[in-house]
Amino acid sequence: MYITSGRSNEWIVKNAKTVTKKCFYCNNTGEHYVIGRLIGPALGFIFQPAKTKLGFKKYYLVCPICNKISKELARNELEYLKNN
Ligand SMILES: [Zn+2]
Repeated sequence: MYITSGRSNEWIVKNAKTVTKKCFYCNNTGEHYVIGRLIGPALGFIFQPAKTKLGFKKYYLVCPICNKISKELARNELEYLKNN
C-alpha cells in the first residue's frame, strides 16, 4: 500500500484530467487525480522540483478523499488523460 504525503519526490500532474471512480480503500466515489513519483536515484539539484529531475518516473491515480494510490497508470493511460 502506498500513502501519499508531502514528500519531495512526488508531484501532482496538473495538466492531466481527473478520473471519476470509486475508491477501493474508502469506498467513496470522487475525482481521482494523477501524481508522478520519482523511483530510485535521480539527477538534479536538491531544491529542484522532482518533476524536472532526470530519473525513472511512475504515475498513479490518487483518491481525493483518503489520498491513497488506487491505480498505477501505464504510459498510454497517462497520455490519454493528458491529451483528451
Ligand atoms: Zn479513498
